Amino acid sequence: MGKTYDIAVVGAGFAGLACARRAAERGLSVVALDRLSGPGERIHTTGILVREAWEEWAAPAATVRRIRRVRVYTPSHRFVELERERYFFLATDTAALMRHLVAETRRAGAEIRFGERYRGAARNGAGFSLEGSGVNCRFLVGADGARSRVAESFGLDRNRRLLKGVEWEFAPEPGDGDCLHCFIDPECAPGYIGWVVPGVGMTQVGLAVHRRRRADIARFVRRIDPLFGLSRRRVTGKRGGIIPIGGLLRNFHGDRVLLIGDAAGMVSPLTAGGIHNAYRLGRLAGAAIADHLAGEGPHPGPVVRRAYPNRLWKRAARWSYDRLPVARALEAGMLTRSVFRRAAERVFFSRE
Ligand SMILES: Cc1cc2nc3c(=O)[nH]c(=O)nc-3n(C[C@H](O)[C@H](O)[C@H](O)COP(=O)(O)OP(=O)(O)OC[C@H]3O[C@@H](n4cnc5c(N)ncnc54)[C@H](O)[C@@H]3O)c2cc1C
Repeated sequence: MGKTYDIAVVGAGFAGLACARRAAERGLSVVALDRLSGPGERIHTTGILVREAWEEWAAPAATVRRIRRVRVYTPSHRFVELERERYFFLATDTAALMRHLVAETRRAGAEIRFGERYRGAARNGAGFSLEGSGVNCRFLVGADGARSRVAESFGLDRNRRLLKGVEWEFAPEPGDGDCLHCFIDPECAPGYIGWVVPGVGMTQVGLAVHRRRRADIARFVRRIDPLFGLSRRRVTGKRGGIIPIGGLLRNFHGDRVLLIGDAAGMVSPLTAGGIHNAYRLGRLAGAAIADHLAGEGPHPGPVVRRAYPNRLWKRAARWSYDRLPVARALEAGMLTRSVFRRAAERVFFSRE
């Protein structure tokens, strides 16, 4: 028997919460299920927000810290510093931010159940019943991350191009500043970059690499030790996860089913940032599903696709970064600082 909802959302991450909240605000009955035992229980992301995300949802001041500049380093640790007037990023206490988003989503009227893993769904007349949870729904949303079980169980596309990210949290020091440090380092970070973020109550040091390469963060930490004195600090935590960089999946929706966030590949192929898209397109999906169920709108899939930035140049830049010896060209002076600066500014400050 169980209970019937308009929408069941699998995954209470950024995308799932945004979708559940918007749909509940529109008056639908919504349940979100997550396998975690509670909000913020396990964080896999660095959690940097772009300014646009902060403008869209009010993150409490205690959960964020402004980052005003970006330094991009060559393998020999020469760097260019980037800054744009009135622009900033936000480092976050991501666990606290998730607790805030869950509270806001519940306040909007959505039910959120933790400790409930999605195992599969059977179609019934008006929608689906979810295995083992007693949940029936008219529409199902898969917001269950890069390796979506919902995608698998409905034969939708899966993310194939993946990076692997690992991060260590260190005790902070007063001189850590307000600068995001990014390292082009083909040996330690083949396919992507390493980074140091002065976070909220901690300093985060991370590395992302092609899925099949080893992410040797201890080696990276030793390499940048002269710059940050990490060897004298305590490691206070570790996190990490998978980042899809192949772009929006072609086949990300079906009859009364929609994938959003990482499950649908809504991540920038170049910066690997996905929180803003997960949140923005999650909200859009919530509204589009409400319209659709009321018989006033098309399937939400094409609505979301139209709103997804096409990112042609970012895909081209990722192609080049993967195949051209950018680091060597930088060190040899073949790629001038001004050309490199212009490209890097576009990567960090453009949301197209
Ligand atoms: C190391 C790393 C660093 C990153 N840094 C940044 C950054 O600084 N800025 C940025 O914008 N992006 C960053 N990203 C990307 C960003 O974290 C993701 O794009 C974003 O979290 C996507 O949100 P989501 O809600 O789609 O998925 P997720 O955050 O993955 O949430 C999915 C949820 O689904 C739940 N779930 C999964 N399977 C099931 C199941 N079977 N049943 C029930 N629940 C399930 C999970 O528990 C989880 O809570 C980073 C990613 C990684 C891995």
